[in-house]
Amino acid sequence: MDDHSLALRFQQTLARIEAAATRCQRPAPLLLAVSKTQPAAAIRALFALGQRAFGESYWQEAQGKLEQLADLPIDWHFIGPLQANKTRPVAEHFAWAHGVEREKIARRLSEQRLSQLPPLNICLQVNLDGEASKAGVAPEDVLPLALAVKDLPNLKLRGLMCIPAPREDVAGQRAAFRRMADLLAQLQAAGIEGLDTLSMGMSDDLEAAIAEGSTLVRVGTAIFGERG
Ligand SMILES: *Cc1c(COP(=O)(O)O)cnc(C)c1O
Repeated sequence: MDDHSLALRFQQTLARIEAAATRCQRPAPLLLAVSKTQPAAAIRALFALGQRAFGESYWQEAQGKLEQLADLPIDWHFIGPLQANKTRPVAEHFAWAHGVEREKIARRLSEQRLSQLPPLNICLQVNLDGEASKAGVAPEDVLPLALAVKDLPNLKLRGLMCIPAPREDVAGQRAAFRRMADLLAQLQAAGIEGLDTLSMGMSDDLEAAIAEGSTLVRVGTAIFGERG
């Protein structure tokens, strides 16, 4: 995509987010630009337009890009699946990990986080629809997991993340996101402090997510176009 189209799509995405937030009188969420499959040059171009937070899903793919863009103060978010034997690069190179679904993964991230870095921000991934194909902790297991990881050193539990099953209707999308907001409220009611993040909403459902209190939308296609 040329830089002009990228700028246009970026502005349209920001306008969508702003309009959705205004409609429901909520603060606009942070925009995480999902740059998986995009070349470093596209990330650099979007950075030049003011974007600071970028999300990558696979370390193998992200590594070269992080190296090429090391001159830029980018907030890197790891949004992909986290396997226990692949936590180290995430602990060492990212500001956030959104896909934490097991205590063991959180413990490893905490142990591997470099002490000179600020704590790694984490979200617990919730498998809202119980899909076998998707990662995440079952809704009823979120509270015990949160209690188990909230005090790990070098981590900061910020909230919850989900990738709901695709739904065509906005009412269905909203009902799924509302369950996330209820789950976060449940953790807060249990006395867990510092929870301020609902990482939910993507290109096709960000309006519904914002209406239900998303604080961070993860958007790829709407900004960069269809992935090849
Ligand atoms: C790819 C991806 C996104 C972005 O999806 P789009 O539909 O392209 O906006 C968001 N979150 C996660 C976890 C992803 O893997």
